[in-house]
Amino acid sequence: MKCNYHTHTLRCMHAEGSDESYVRAAVAAGFDVLGFSDHVPFPFAGGYRSTIRMPMSDLDDYVDSVRTLKKKYADRIRIHLGFEAEYFPRYRDHLLRLRDAGTEYFVLGQHYADSEEDTPYTGLECRTDDGVRRYADAVVNGIQTGLFSCVAHPDLMMRHRTSDQFNLACVYASDMICQAAKEADIPIEFNLLGLSLQLAGIDRGYPSVPFWTHVRRWQNRVIIGVDAHSPLLLRDAALWREGHDRVEALGYEITDHLPIDD
Ligand SMILES: [Zn+2]
Ligand SMILES: [Zn+2]
Repeated sequence: MKCNYHTHTLRCMHAEGSDESYVRAAVAAGFDVLGFSDHVPFPFAGGYRSTIRMPMSDLDDYVDSVRTLKKKYADRIRIHLGFEAEYFPRYRDHLLRLRDAGTEYFVLGQHYADSEEDTPYTGLECRTDDGVRRYADAVVNGIQTGLFSCVAHPDLMMRHRTSDQFNLACVYASDMICQAAKEADIPIEFNLLGLSLQLAGIDRGYPSVPFWTHVRRWQNRVIIGVDAHSPLLLRDAALWREGHDRVEALGYEITDHLPIDD
């Protein structure tokens, strides 16, 4: 099975292409499953407006669009409705409502340790060791809710760190995250968007070689996530192969699909 559960849409304001163009790209690239997991909207307090996720006013359109494509392409590819979401305790009920309204899965992508209104972006905050600890605590709390089907880019803390900055704080954080994922029996993601940027010579700290080398001992199941912000990334067969080769070379078991009912 060739499956990808990490796909964005242009509603998040930093992706490109129509929703259907992602589906066409996935079909052309031989995917059996395509999960849409755009950045979840939150009903932020105080009128705060995010610039990296859809506003609440786009939510119905996103859901309708994915459901329409699911029906239209049912004979060619299985499509799932999901979100990439942070776990912010104050908005827990919001995620529960989305789940109860038919969201098929959530990918945990902790881009902010606590809510976006008043915490810096994880990659920036994790330049300090305190930031790394806050990130790990937030991810572990998210995993332990049982709401999430996998952990996107678990090594996001390395976003603005080099490999030689994988210090003791990073070791502890990595162990915490991987132990929690192991106990919850959910896979951690090897992120192909990060890999594609690294291969293009663009500075991107994840996938982080010391992270993936260190956490091997937890024997987490690993899922490959394209993290497509463009349909082109779904069509990149060489990138898909390269990601698998790297994960297999490290000795991990690759999980090709998530347990989502139709
Ligand atoms: Zn993400
Ligand atoms: Zn993403």
